[in-house]
Amino acid sequence: MECLFCKIINREIPADIVYEDEHVLAFNDIDPKAPTHQLIIPKQHIATLNDIDPEHLAVVGRLQYTAARLAKEQGFAEDGYRVVMNCNGMGGQTVYHIHMHLMGGRQFTWPAG
Ligand code: 5GP
Ligand code: ZN
Repeated sequence: MECLFCKIINREIPADIVYEDEHVLAFNDIDPKAPTHQLIIPKQHIATLNDIDPEHLAVVGRLQYTAARLAKEQGFAEDGYRVVMNCNGMGGQTVYHIHMHLMGGRQFTWPAG
């Protein structure tokens, strides 16, 4: 499997892991765009949001649940934060294993760039 994030899951590439359970892994983004910038990924390889099937719904829900838990644990849930999932080229996706960006610690603007 040539997928970068599968390699992180399999410990073939190091990452600064902040949370792990049976279904998801979370680690610090290598090129942070906010004081806190973490990626939350399913352990199951799903290439893009377009590839989500009904059987994946539970794990996709866990991405969101984990983001909120991490925001609470790190103390910025009440102030607010941004979660983003990019899909394909026009959406800005560069790694083809779905991931939720969790960003906190600064003011975000809308619309996103
Ligand atoms: P995308 O552009 O696909 O939504 O987000 C991919 C994210 O993965 C980017 O924010 C990028 O900085 C991050 N990233 C790319 N390669 C690595 C890596 O090897 N380690 C970590 N921790 N993050 C990475
Ligand atoms: Zn993968």
